[in-house]
Amino acid sequence: MEKNALRKLYIAELKDLYSAENQLVKALPKMAKAADSEDLKAGFEEHLEQTRGHVSRLEKIFKALGESPKGKTCKGMEGLIEEGSEMIKEDPEAEELDAGLIAAAQRVEHYEIAGYGCVRTYAELLGEEDAVELLEETLKEEKETDEKLTELAGKINVEAQVSEDSEEEQAERNTPRKASKTRAARA
Ligand code: FE
Repeated sequence: MEKNALRKLYIAELKDLYSAENQLVKALPKMAKAADSEDLKAGFEEHLEQTRGHVSRLEKIFKALGESPKGKTCKGMEGLIEEGSEMIKEDPEAEELDAGLIAAAQRVEHYEIAGYGCVRTYAELLGEEDAVELLEETLKEEKETDEKLTELAGKINVEAQVSEDSEEEQAERNTPRKASKTRAARA
């Protein structure tokens, strides 16, 4: 590919990520507010801080390129966030809600990992060494977030299972034990 064409593609992909990160800065507080698990809430809040850092790294890269970061809307991220908020609106039980939030957040992370992986490769090909470093830092944080979400998914999905079992037991025995059992499992 001609270097100019690659530079154009590089900038377009960076703009897409800039839009995606800014959408996330708005969505993450809503996800933190919706989450039932304290660990998940804290995880979203921590990632919000990181995401603000991702925005400023992209701004640094654009500044060095002499280009504006604006002018593109990341429709992929719009769709992912929309699916997440639809799930919240359905108002599921606490454990199901958390499991759903984790699924939505992991889709977001994988989408970002793909995007950052591409722009990092383009930056390497274009000899943009400072940008490679900045993009790698963000890529590392996105991957770490994905791993933390996988850990939380393990925990929370087990709790969802416990709640389901207790519902069955409750039906059998006709005793209202669901709330206390769920709470005990969570503690
Ligand atoms: Fe990010």
